[in-house]
Amino acid sequence: MADRKFSRREALGLFAGAVGAGAAGRWSTASLMAQTPGAIPAGAIIRTILKDVPPSAINGHLLFHEHLSFGAVFFEKMRPANAPRPATPPPPSYIESPERVIEEVKASMQQGIGLIVDGGHADMGTNYEHLKLISERTGLHVIASGGYYLQTTYPPEVATQSEEQLVDGLVRDAARQRWGAFGEIGSSPTMTNDERKVFRVMAQAVKRTNLPLYSHTPHSGCKGCAIEQLDIFTKAGVDMNKICIGHLSDIFDDPNADTHKTIARAGGWLGFDTVGHRLGPGDSVKVGMILKLIEAGFEDRILLASDFASEPETKANGGAGYSTVSTVFLPKLKYAGVKDATITKMMVDNPKRFLAFVPPKA
Ligand SMILES: [Zn+2]
Repeated sequence: MADRKFSRREALGLFAGAVGAGAAGRWSTASLMAQTPGAIPAGAIIRTILKDVPPSAINGHLLFHEHLSFGAVFFEKMRPANAPRPATPPPPSYIESPERVIEEVKASMQQGIGLIVDGGHADMGTNYEHLKLISERTGLHVIASGGYYLQTTYPPEVATQSEEQLVDGLVRDAARQRWGAFGEIGSSPTMTNDERKVFRVMAQAVKRTNLPLYSHTPHSGCKGCAIEQLDIFTKAGVDMNKICIGHLSDIFDDPNADTHKTIARAGGWLGFDTVGHRLGPGDSVKVGMILKLIEAGFEDRILLASDFASEPETKANGGAGYSTVSTVFLPKLKYAGVKDATITKMMVDNPKRFLAFVPPKA
């Protein structure tokens, strides 16, 4: 799909607005509607796959939802049911090879990437040993995640076990595999009963572990799905400061970002985690929504990432790879008048506040 270019006139108009608003800036942190976000509590750590790290020890940009490891099993699970199998199987994706991912990561670290949250889990064939290797060989802080993805990828236990059993299993696996987050936890365009069960289970797992959670809503863009997820979390009594509703950047029929504002007012994080793709549509729309949110005082709730797993866009293929957000999307935000301080907030401070947690006493 063709990328709709961000109109220069539109951008200049917004920029002029920013300048015209005076020293405070139209897109500044100051806004009467801003929520006061929670500061990082004393004793909070960010849990990488190798060690627990104080948030202040992490330098560079933090990306809260990318992919560093998939198994071939994932591509098979996501193949549409009736799609014909190619006569000769395609070559393995770069993401199945830790050596190739390591090269990609090294290059993106040169462009300021300091931490990546891997958005996969057992459902997706994520290899936790690969994640460790990638972190050890590059020095990148890597956060491993866990949970369940979508109905199409669920293992049988989702249907057969009780919610309590599933929560217990997640709490155990989180400790055993050093998960630093739950994610990506998805729902289909029409949420299935099992998916509803998984969201209730995940809410309880967040309460038991204090781990943050980021979700997946359909890439086709689904306002109702985002609100449905929010409803389950709020009914379960989860602290919404622990929850990021994901792929909100794919909602293209909400120019005022009203869905996003509803989530932010409930205290949740806004996942703009599909931005900057050369091959994807609509950075102009995504920039526009972010401007609306900044204007409404919600810059303290925005998280950016690219959900990267795109072979054609790897650095090896001339793309921006894991520095897609920093090198492709941030310049568009700046061009639209977003201040450096706000960008730093979205790339450094906000993800630290989202990811840092106080482990419960055993
Ligand atoms: Zn996703």
